Amino acid sequence: EDKEKIYDVRYKVLLVGESGVGKTSLIRKLVGTATNKNHMNMLSTIGIDFVKKLYEVDGAKVQLEIWDTAGQERFRSITKMHYRGTKAVVFVYDVADLDSFTRLNFWLESIDQELQCSVEDTPPMIIIGNKSDLEDKREVPTERGEKLADEKLANGFWETSAKQGTNVHACFEKLAYTLTDTF
Ligand code: GDP
Ligand code: MG
Repeated sequence: EDKEKIYDVRYKVLLVGESGVGKTSLIRKLVGTATNKNHMNMLSTIGIDFVKKLYEVDGAKVQLEIWDTAGQERFRSITKMHYRGTKAVVFVYDVADLDSFTRLNFWLESIDQELQCSVEDTPPMIIIGNKSDLEDKREVPTERGEKLADEKLANGFWETSAKQGTNVHACFEKLAYTLTDTF
């Protein structure tokens, strides 16, 4: 598909977290075009969803290839293919669902296992508390998310709303910068 290479460097980014936290909505908000939606729908049928997003970082064209899970997270059956070549991980929970936050520990452990990385070469990761628009239903205080991100040495913590678009672009752009600095 990439007949002409439009990027200088490309990074695979994997989105994980419980079903329903808004991973797919975040990606859709990020790319938001009809073409990309068709692309995603097509890939969903074979169990893979990824979108490409191009950033310009210090004069370099940086392409994030952001992988979603097409519902396999419900069965805890993310395949090896999803993990292979992952350069960054985005952990997502729902601020209005405490259980989805508690379950992040499961996702943090699986990533360590699947990527079989030592502490030194753990890929950059960020933690996102999504659905920040649901303030009246909030179950996870911002400070708990921040604390987890500190403990896990995350490269960033964001509260987002895929519904309203809050912080969605900012956090992925920041990730593109982090990756460019790291590698
Ligand atoms: P996924 O299973 O993690 O991919 O989650 P989805 O993207 O399918 O979203 C699950 C549900 O949460 C859907 O009904 C979305 O419309 C809703 N949702 C996703 N993001 C937000 C958000 O930021 N705010 C609110 N209020 N609802 C959201
Ligand atoms: Mg989904």
